[in-house]
Amino acid sequence: MPLQQTPPDLGNQYDEDRVLRSYLARVLPETMHKEIEPSLRELGRLAGGDLYRMQLADRLNEPTLTQWDAWGNRIDHVEVTPLWREAERIAVAFGLVATAYEQKHGSLSRVHQCALAYLFTPSTDIYSCPLAMTDGAARVILSSGNQALIERAVPHLISRNPKDSWTAGQWMTELTGGSDVGLSQTGAVRIGSDSHQDAGSVQGSIDQPLPTSHSGVDAWRLYGIKWFTSAVTAQVALTLARPEGNPPGGRGLALFYVELRDEFGRLRNIEVNRLKDKLGTRKVPTAELTLIGTPAQLVKGTTDGIRNISPLLNITRLWNGISAVALMRRGVALAADYARRRIAFGAPLSEKPLHVDTLAGLQAEAEGAFHFAFYVAELTGRAEVPADSLKPSENAIDEVVLLRLLTPVMKLTTGKQAVQVLSEVIEAFGGAGYVEDTGLPQLLRDAQVLPIWEGTTNVLSLDTLRALGVSGTKPNVEGAGAFKTFKAAIRSCLQSVHDSRLSEPVRTVQSALDHAETWLFRTTQEQQTLEADARRFAMTLGRTMELALLVNQAQWSLDNEADGRAAAAARRFAGSGIDLLVDHDPNDARMLFT
Ligand SMILES: Cc1cc2nc3c(=O)[nH]c(=O)nc-3n(C[C@H](O)[C@H](O)[C@H](O)COP(=O)(O)OP(=O)(O)OC[C@H]3O[C@@H](n4cnc5c(N)ncnc54)[C@H](O)[C@@H]3O)c2cc1C
Repeated sequence: MPLQQTPPDLGNQYDEDRVLRSYLARVLPETMHKEIEPSLRELGRLAGGDLYRMQLADRLNEPTLTQWDAWGNRIDHVEVTPLWREAERIAVAFGLVATAYEQKHGSLSRVHQCALAYLFTPSTDIYSCPLAMTDGAARVILSSGNQALIERAVPHLISRNPKDSWTAGQWMTELTGGSDVGLSQTGAVRIGSDSHQDAGSVQGSIDQPLPTSHSGVDAWRLYGIKWFTSAVTAQVALTLARPEGNPPGGRGLALFYVELRDEFGRLRNIEVNRLKDKLGTRKVPTAELTLIGTPAQLVKGTTDGIRNISPLLNITRLWNGISAVALMRRGVALAADYARRRIAFGAPLSEKPLHVDTLAGLQAEAEGAFHFAFYVAELTGRAEVPADSLKPSENAIDEVVLLRLLTPVMKLTTGKQAVQVLSEVIEAFGGAGYVEDTGLPQLLRDAQVLPIWEGTTNVLSLDTLRALGVSGTKPNVEGAGAFKTFKAAIRSCLQSVHDSRLSEPVRTVQSALDHAETWLFRTTQEQQTLEADARRFAMTLGRTMELALLVNQAQWSLDNEADGRAAAAARRFAGSGIDLLVDHDPNDARMLFT
C-alpha cells in the first residue's frame, strides 16, 4: 500500500497562538482580558474549525457580475460567495467594526478589535477588505464634523444588527493612477448649475432621482471612471472628484459620500463595467465603474479631498498590517502542523534540523511583525481616545507624531514580510504547497496584494520621508522631532530589558538606530540619494521597531511567564537583517536600469 500524505490541521486559533495570548496578557488589564477572552476563543474556534472547513469548500467559488436581466434591464448585480455571506454575518455578530467605536475599553478597544480581526481574517478570504474600508469610512465621517452625515451613516457602519448594518467602499484609483491620485479626472457638478440642470439627460445613463434624505444644497452628481473599486457590494462609498471650476492637482479634489443604491436596490447612475480578473483576493469583487451622474454629497469642503480622506487610509493601513500578520500566522501554523505529520528520510520534518531552522526563521518574522502591527493599533486607539494618550512630557514621545510616522512604516514592512513568509510557507509543503486544492497557494496570492494596495512600498517609503519632514527640503524642526520621537519610542521598549539573553538583540537595535540616524542627517541634502535609498531606510526603521518591540515582549514574557520563546524569536530576528541601509552608488542603479 502506498503511504498517503496527511493534510495539515488547525486547532482553536486563539488557544494555539502563544504570541497573541502573551501579548494580550501584557497589554490588557486583567478584567478586560477576562471579559473579552470568551469571544476571542469562540472566534478562534470558528477560524480553526467550521469557518476553515467552509473556506476550503468554497475555494472554487468566485463573485459573479450579472449586467442584464432576462428582459433587457441593466441590473449590474454582483453576487458574492457563500463564504463571504457567512463572513459578513460573523463580522457583524462579533462587532469587527463596532468594537472600535463602542470604546467599551477606551483606547484598548482598538487592540480588542484588531485581535478579533487577526483571528477572523485568515479564514474569510479577505473579507477584511470591506471591513477595513467600512471602519475607515466611519472614522473619516466622524472626523469630518458633518453632523447630518454622521447621523445618517455612522450608526449603520458600526452596527451590530445584520438588518441595518452597512459596508463602505473607497473609490480613489482611476485610470490615471492610484498613487498619483491628484491626476483624477472624475468631475463633480452641483445640481442646479447651468451646464447640468438635468443630469439625467446624459446619454446612456440609468438616471434616478437623488435620495430624498440627501437632496438640497449639498447635492452633487459625479461623472467619471473608477478603475479599482473593491467590494462593490457595499452600500456606501467615499470617493474623490473635482468640482467644476476647481484647479488641477490634489488640492482641487473634493471628498464625496455616495449611497450606491435606491430603496429598490438599483444602482444609482453607476455602471459596473466588469469585475477584475486578479492574481489573488479573488473573493473580493473589485470592479471597474462608470459614474454617470451618480448622486453624491460633499463630506467636507469643496477642496482638499486627499487630505480629508487620509484618516481612512490610516485605518485601512492598520487593517493591512493586521491582515499581513494574520496571514503569516496562518501559514506558519499550517506549516508547523504539517512538519509534525510529514515523514521524509525516515523521520518527521519537525525533527530535521534544517527544516526546523527554516520554520523558526518564519516564526521570528511573524512575531516581529505581529508586535509592530499591534503597537500601531495601540497608538491608533490612543489617538482616538485622547484622554488615554500618554503626554509627551511623561515619556518624551509625541504619540500623534509617532503614529503619523509608524503607520506607513508598519504597513510597508509587514506587507513585504507577509509575501516573503508565505512564499517560504508554500515551499515548506514541497509540491503539495503548489497544488491548488490544498488551499495553500491562495495564501501567497492573497498576501501579494498587501504591499500594493493602500500605498505601495515605494510610495509609503517616500511618505515616511515626508513624515520625517525631510522630503524635498532639508530637515525641518518637525522632522527632526519625528525622528527624536522614534528614538524615544525605541528607548522606551528597551528601558526595562535586563536579561543577558537579550543583550545581543538590544545591541542590534541600537546599532541599526544609530546607522539610520547618521544616514538621515547625512543624506537630507542629497535629494536623489534620499529618494533612492528611501525603501531601505524605511524598512530599517520598520525592522528596528519590530525588534525593539519583540525584545520588550520577550523580557516581559521571561519575567511573567518564565517563557523563553519570545526571547528566542528576538535573537533569531536580530540575526535576520535589521539594518538594511547599504551604500549603493545611484549611478550603478541608473546603468543597470538603462
Ligand atoms: C486587488 C486590488 C484592489 C484594489 N481596490 C481598490 C479600491 O477599492 N479602491 C481604490 O481606490 N483603489 C484600489 N486598488 C488600487 C490600488 O490602491 C492601487 O493600484 C495602488 O495604490 C497603486 O497605484 P497604481 O496602480 O496607480 O500604481 P503606480 O502608482 O503606477 O505604481 C507602479 C509602481 O511604481 C512605483 N512608484 C509609484 N510612484 C513612485 C515614486 N514617486 N517613486 C518611486 N516609485 C514609485 C510603485 O511603488 C509601483 O511599484 C486596488 C488594487 C488592487 C490590486
